[in-house]
Amino acid sequence: MEQKMELTCIRCPMGCCMTATVENGSVTAVTGNTCRRGKEYAMTEAVAPVRTVTSTVLCLGGVRPVVAVKTVPEVPKARVFDVMDVIRRIRVKAPVHIGDVLLRDAAGTGADIVATAELDKK
Ligand code: SF4
Repeated sequence: MEQKMELTCIRCPMGCCMTATVENGSVTAVTGNTCRRGKEYAMTEAVAPVRTVTSTVLCLGGVRPVVAVKTVPEVPKARVFDVMDVIRRIRVKAPVHIGDVLLRDAAGTGADIVATAELDKK
């Protein structure tokens, strides 16, 4: 059975309105996108939406109490709150460097929690 899904692209500030046609769990057509990135977004969003989770992790002995992190790669949208629960419980020691993996396989999603900022020792 064919379904039409209305989507707003979140890949850039233009926010193009798109329509994805889904048949038997697969996207068969995308319209309304201005560029290839929009089509790629719609192809995933219509059947298996994912998100990058950005947050902060508590850091001991640093010049600031927290360090910025994100998930790499994106996680299934339905698992975002599970990943946030895990992130809330992480504690690391300074120093932390951009790209440091602070936790692997967060909540069994396969995504790592990676530092996106530098944090020096006090
Ligand atoms: S389709 Fe392309 S131009 Fe339109 S919002 Fe998405 S990324 Fe931006």
